[in-house]
Amino acid sequence: MTDLHRLSIRELSEGLKQAQFSSRELTEHYLKRIAKIDPKVKSYVTVTAEQALAEADAADAALKSGNAHALAGIPLAHKDIFCTRGIKTTAGSKMLDNFISPYDATVVAKAKAAGLVTLGKVNMDEFAMGSTSENSYIGATSNPWALDHVPGGSSGGSAAAVAADLAPIATGTDTGGSIRQPASFCGLTGLKPTYGRVSRFGMIAYASSLDQGGPMARSAEDCAYLMNVIAGHDAKDSTSINKEVDDYVANLNGTAVKGLRIGIPKQYFNVAGLDADVKARVEESLKKLEDMGAILVEIDLNMTEAYVPTYYLIAPAEASSNLSRFDGVRYGYRCENPVDLMDLYKRSRSEGFGAEVQRRILIGTYALSAGYYDAYYVKAQKVRRLIQQDFLKAFESVDVIAAPSAPTTAYKIGANLSPTEMYLGDIYTLAVNLAGLPAINAPVGFDKDSLPVGLQLIGNYWSESQLLSIVHQYQQNTDWHTKRAAIAEENA
Ligand code: GLN
Repeated sequence: MTDLHRLSIRELSEGLKQAQFSSRELTEHYLKRIAKIDPKVKSYVTVTAEQALAEADAADAALKSGNAHALAGIPLAHKDIFCTRGIKTTAGSKMLDNFISPYDATVVAKAKAAGLVTLGKVNMDEFAMGSTSENSYIGATSNPWALDHVPGGSSGGSAAAVAADLAPIATGTDTGGSIRQPASFCGLTGLKPTYGRVSRFGMIAYASSLDQGGPMARSAEDCAYLMNVIAGHDAKDSTSINKEVDDYVANLNGTAVKGLRIGIPKQYFNVAGLDADVKARVEESLKKLEDMGAILVEIDLNMTEAYVPTYYLIAPAEASSNLSRFDGVRYGYRCENPVDLMDLYKRSRSEGFGAEVQRRILIGTYALSAGYYDAYYVKAQKVRRLIQQDFLKAFESVDVIAAPSAPTTAYKIGANLSPTEMYLGDIYTLAVNLAGLPAINAPVGFDKDSLPVGLQLIGNYWSESQLLSIVHQYQQNTDWHTKRAAIAEENA
């Protein structure tokens, strides 16, 4: 079969069960595509061909025996922030250029246990800091829809790999939008779960109170399949929640769009810098949901202006603390010929970290320093609480909240926005992480340059099933999620 990469996760699962094709054939098919097409997209940092084929053979044996998991034998790509035993984990940094973890992240272990086949590790902004994937030490990844554009970030490699049909699904992480924004830029569906739903164990920490892993795929249905594998309590992550996990696939038709109250925050659609095409496509998608029976309700989210400054204090503060472990002694990169211990620290960190990471360490260290702690960090924590309360108040009158995922479509590679311009592009995604809420991106059309536009739906805590179900039903009634970039149509 030449078009195995066109099949959805459900179709792959059925095809494997019915022995229409084997996991080895499927895995070889994807590996061939990666070899032929990825040199143009540059989504993979590491391709684990040999291991993938061994995993595929094991899945085929399990499938033959008749007691395989629904996803056994289906390939996936992991963001290079998830630790993988025996395979390099770089987090897009020179600091971890040669780092081989002695253990698997829980997400990776769960995927393995389900029989999913790891195709490799995909690119990202260094330590997940960025919105373009250009901050990767390995180099930039291209957007499959326009190779001179970025795929978004920080999970840009995950998004590009799926959008170019170089993996049927991928894992991503979202600290301030890193699943939703690249999904938006690449025309994919991506879910950022409630904080605590997916284990952070073995996920290299950026900002621990905000980080959350989740699925990136071509449809809500595909995301639901991966959520069924990766969600759940983990004793190795103290912030993971011991709460029953939904069957996200079984619940796909569980929420009626008819009668659903969708909040439209006034403030969100008046943001300076909101692209006219993005606004139009998002409004059209909301009109479509209205036609399907949803009720659009205008709401107030008064804290909107505080999102960017609050996140860009809290996230760097936590990052500066998390990244202190990279000292040239215990982990990763070490400078040549240090003259003394201080020189070893200083040069290892100056040489090992890229500019954006250093900028955040400086901001975070400053915000946490004795003289400024109350003025910046403590204040940001208080504002964070107000942002959360703003959402909780809104959820008293609406079921979900709609927003663009990003104010623009994908930037050109090398556009070289200033750090503050770049940070402002995160306006629609940051508050969700500050509040710990779940949110999803769904593709809803294209701008005048044929670049994808995404709709974001934000739900109340633990509403992953509801979000997936709404998008699934939208996708049953529209075909934006079936559109493919030209490069994905190429055959290997
Ligand atoms: N773009 C945001 C940042 O640079 C979000 C990144 C993320 O979610 N990991 O921090």
